[in-house]
Amino acid sequence: MAARLIDGKAIAAEIRREVRLDVAAMDAQTGVVPCLAAILIGNDPASATYVQNKARACKEVGITSVRIDLPADLPEALLLQEIARLNSDPAVHAILVQLPLPPHISEKRVLETILPEKDVDGFHPANLGGLLVGKPLFVASTPLGILELLNRSNVGIEGKHAVIVGWSVVVGKPTAFLLLQHHATVTICHIKTRDLAAHTRQADILVVAAGKPGLVTGSMVKEGAVVIDVGVNRLIDGRVVGDVDFPRVAEKASLITPVPGGVGPMTVAMLLRNTVDACRRIRDAGCSQGAAGDYIG
Ligand code: NAP
Repeated sequence: MAARLIDGKAIAAEIRREVRLDVAAMDAQTGVVPCLAAILIGNDPASATYVQNKARACKEVGITSVRIDLPADLPEALLLQEIARLNSDPAVHAILVQLPLPPHISEKRVLETILPEKDVDGFHPANLGGLLVGKPLFVASTPLGILELLNRSNVGIEGKHAVIVGWSVVVGKPTAFLLLQHHATVTICHIKTRDLAAHTRQADILVVAAGKPGLVTGSMVKEGAVVIDVGVNRLIDGRVVGDVDFPRVAEKASLITPVPGGVGPMTVAMLLRNTVDACRRIRDAGCSQGAAGDYIG
């Protein structure tokens, strides 16, 4: 293997240490500890595990977390009421609603109800739109984690050709706009892209977020490219793999993220960072509800 591994586990651990110090300093200076409220609807085991992992990560760094369990058949209006209550609770600085939602609840209405200032997942249209003008309050944790992996691995972004495979609202699009904001030249590929390989072969930085195991093969990658594999796919034999053919692609790339242990650990670490930022911004604004807030770049 020619490529060096980008160790997401180690980088995420470093970020958690930084967040822990930040939380302790904030507590010592102001007596305020960041608080994340996580809403879980229904009993989907995977969603319950995600929420549990986030709560554990909060505890490790000194962030208070509140878990709100709601029944799967809860009427949408009651969920929106609960979010409104959290929006106006000054003790809560960050809110997330674990997705997916039961089919009778509109994801759009739910995400739009979370106050943008507390929207640490970065899915509110105000935050997604903020990326277009380079000034979101929050960027979704996975794209933010990808940027952090590149920065902390000393990968220059400016002037590079970044090719993103996948254009979801959660990963592909925000990643593309983040990299564009850092002056990469960005190509976004999707299911209708003609000759995917012709595009991926041009990438200095290749981000693959398609959810298709083995989609990117060795011959689709330029010698020396930096490859970020976002995909998480469980195979029938139980193995978890990314979207790239790791052994072949690693022979060509200069840097590559493994799956697991690459992007995954960064997602929770960046959620913690966003929660601290939410608390600081709300505290600095001196209010907790409806504040316009200064957008950050
Ligand atoms: P998604 O909503 O299903 O989006 C997948 C995207 O890939 C779509 O935009 C789709 O394009 C595109 N795509 C699929 N097949 C393609 C192909 N053959 N050629 C080109 N584009 C193709 O998934 P997602 O939420 O973005 O997640 C993507 C992967 O990342 C999944 O494996 C997910 O589990 C993983 N993930 C990991 C983390 C983490 O923390 N590690 C976080 C989030 C997601 P069209 O829309 O045009 O069909």
